[in-house]
Amino acid sequence: MTEAPFVLDEQLARFELDAARARTSAEVQKLRVDWLGKGHGVVTAFLGLLREVPKDEKGAYGAGVNKLKARVEARLKELEGAAAAEAARAAESARAVDVTLPPRVPAVGRLHPLTVVRRRIEASFRSLGYEVADGPEVESDWYNFESLNFPPDHPARDAVDTFFVKGGGTGRDRLLLRTHTSPVQMRTMLSRKPPIRILCPGRVFRKDDIDPRHLPVFNQIEGLAVDEGITFADLRGTLAAFARTFFGDRAKVRFGPTFFPFVEPGVDVAVSCVLCEQKGCRVCSGSGWIEIMGAGMVHPKVLENGGIDPERYTGFAFGMGVDRIALLLHGLPDLRLLLENDLRFLDRVWSS
Ligand SMILES: [Zn+2]
Repeated sequence: MTEAPFVLDEQLARFELDAARARTSAEVQKLRVDWLGKGHGVVTAFLGLLREVPKDEKGAYGAGVNKLKARVEARLKELEGAAAAEAARAAESARAVDVTLPPRVPAVGRLHPLTVVRRRIEASFRSLGYEVADGPEVESDWYNFESLNFPPDHPARDAVDTFFVKGGGTGRDRLLLRTHTSPVQMRTMLSRKPPIRILCPGRVFRKDDIDPRHLPVFNQIEGLAVDEGITFADLRGTLAAFARTFFGDRAKVRFGPTFFPFVEPGVDVAVSCVLCEQKGCRVCSGSGWIEIMGAGMVHPKVLENGGIDPERYTGFAFGMGVDRIALLLHGLPDLRLLLENDLRFLDRVWSS
């Protein structure tokens, strides 16, 4: 009897067991060394034993080992091909773009909430024929108070309320940080003839203690319309149209009497609360109305100071706080949030 067939079957079975575990190129390479390696490969060792096999068995033994060798080589070739293909597939998928991944959004700047609100207010009035006018932040007492009919002893002219920059007394020599954008109205009246329809947005300054509702610097938008035959009905119609454009079709306006030196009569303007549809909420303090503006018919004395004949022309003016409206729109508890530029806060406002 010969050893060869027994050796062949047993070794083939062993090899198949090893081969079943070899997946990667490195594993297949190790398999090749284990079986065909020059020093201690299994097949190599069997070949080395050939000279110890009795003469009459050499033929069968040699044929058996060669058959094993051929099977091992063929199988290794197969495994090497599969491992190479698998490696290529892995490399390909590592390079491939996964189109289902969400895109990485680049961090780009956006307009500040105050700028957005200011531009929306401007757009509402531009559609009514208004243009935007600008003026200096450091003003003379005359433009800020005197020409606007503030009496010399008016409390707003007190150093407690106003930041004075230069000089005592009154008039054009005394400089201050404007307390409203009304000086722009006066400058416009003095520099052109009616009809006038302007909006004056800008920063204004008052000596307020800082708290959630007050800041010493804030943003205002005032408007002025001067022409022949302008009446209180025009003021009412204009502000009602603005309220609808800005707060939505269902917004209504309500006027209440008040006093400002530069208008006669003067009114406080409230808009119906769009957040609760007038059912009453925290923002409107349960009243269903939110005061957003002061307004009135321009005082004849102010028109006169602006070089406009009050016998021929009439006009109306209004003013609102941009910061306060931004607060209302976004339901914010504190004005200071608008100045701190905390990105976490800005992101929340932008996405609301
Ligand atoms: Zn409300």
